[in-house]
Amino acid sequence: MRYVSTRGGSRPLNFESAMLAGLASDGGLYVPEYWPEFTKDFIARLAGQSYEEIAFRIMRPFVGDSFSEGELRGYISRAYDGFGHAARCPLVQIESSSFLLELFHGPTLAFKDFAMQLVAQLFQAALSRRGERATIIGATSGDTGSAAIEAFRGLDSVSVFILFPEGRISEVQRRQMTTPCDANVHALAVRGDFDDCQARVKDMFNDASFRQEMSLAGINSINWARVAAQMVYYFASATALGSPMRKVSFSVPTGNFGDIYAGYAARASGLPIERLVLATNQNDILDRAIRSGQYRTADVRPSLSPSMDIQVSSNFERALYEASGRNGAAVSGMMARLAGEGGFELGEPVLAWLREQFASGNCREDETVETIAEVFRHSGEVVCPHTAVGVKVAWDHAVARRSAPMVILATAHSAKFPDAVKDATGFAPELPSRFDGLGQAAERMHSVDNDLDEIKDAIRRGLPA
Ligand SMILES: *Cc1c(COP(=O)(O)O)cnc(C)c1O
Repeated sequence: MRYVSTRGGSRPLNFESAMLAGLASDGGLYVPEYWPEFTKDFIARLAGQSYEEIAFRIMRPFVGDSFSEGELRGYISRAYDGFGHAARCPLVQIESSSFLLELFHGPTLAFKDFAMQLVAQLFQAALSRRGERATIIGATSGDTGSAAIEAFRGLDSVSVFILFPEGRISEVQRRQMTTPCDANVHALAVRGDFDDCQARVKDMFNDASFRQEMSLAGINSINWARVAAQMVYYFASATALGSPMRKVSFSVPTGNFGDIYAGYAARASGLPIERLVLATNQNDILDRAIRSGQYRTADVRPSLSPSMDIQVSSNFERALYEASGRNGAAVSGMMARLAGEGGFELGEPVLAWLREQFASGNCREDETVETIAEVFRHSGEVVCPHTAVGVKVAWDHAVARRSAPMVILATAHSAKFPDAVKDATGFAPELPSRFDGLGQAAERMHSVDNDLDEIKDAIRRGLPA
């Protein structure tokens, strides 16, 4: 399997090279040259297999010959070993035809662990056999940074520096980044907001000499390897509910379009998905685009579901590529208008394709709190605010059509966002007992001004462990 750029201007790469590169040299995102076809028989035989076995069978054709079968099995096994639930992603029924897919049993209690844990193993393996090292830098509004630090800690081919906005992430999120004591992972508290952090990361990637000096690499949600790892839980949950004999629908709380794009990739590879519901919070650029045909950015309004407070959804470019008939020139044009004019009109046939593939809806702040309360009254389950967005929009759509079971992706543990949950239910949810020491463990972080030179210096020095 080879990977091509959504902008059509980079040469195709294999899985390993596409993973190490992250972004293509023409600014595009890597997508598989074609979709593998998993047959009904193949999908039926996934039922009853372990999560690790399903991951191996689904990822195998995407990985191609980048890793041997034995290597891939080993990395998958190591990646999910530290999860707090044997099923890795258990399904919990909350209503006659609605199920939560609990993706928060990993080491940082959010779905990003599913991809990050595996990508860390694959990165380490690829770099060490090349005799190379890399410095991973990223900006986080919370969940991505902790997932990366937890996944890469202690690996000797990689150093990790995560920039986060000082004082603007939850205490659990901060402690998950600042308490690992391994010398190769570092949390940098920037005196600024999330956009500042993201802008400084971008500046460093655009600085060719710094990029080369430090062998910078990115592991943000546009990395194809992360998408490939996220396809697995769509297959695992659908087969647990009777696929391929029965169609299943999914509702996905969406920010950067990564998780829901993995659902599209599962469908494109043969999984019979009835509806893919895209659920946004009040930062609803994607919902507005699908409803109105206008893809136009607005200011980010901080919400109760901060991991979805995004206006430019990087992975949406991959959907636009499919929607325009895999036309790299058309995608380049759209992205140029986005950068230059702040938006563009989707137009036909792009809009028709998107509406056929995705149902969409959004959830206001008051509806988020109401939904947490309603799910608790209905089922006794306590959901995080991101998950509540997915439930609300799923239920809006399920009224219209009840033929398929609806799986709502539960993207984080409620204890990561205790304030919103307390507003809704009257009590603060507790962390699982394996996190008992988190509140007391010593923190290690470095505060920096929102200043490119100061940040680059801190990274060069490697920071004290
Ligand atoms: C990152 C994140 C999301 C959004 O996922 P995307 O892939 O960016 O759409 C939703 N919920 C939680 C808890 C997250 O951490």
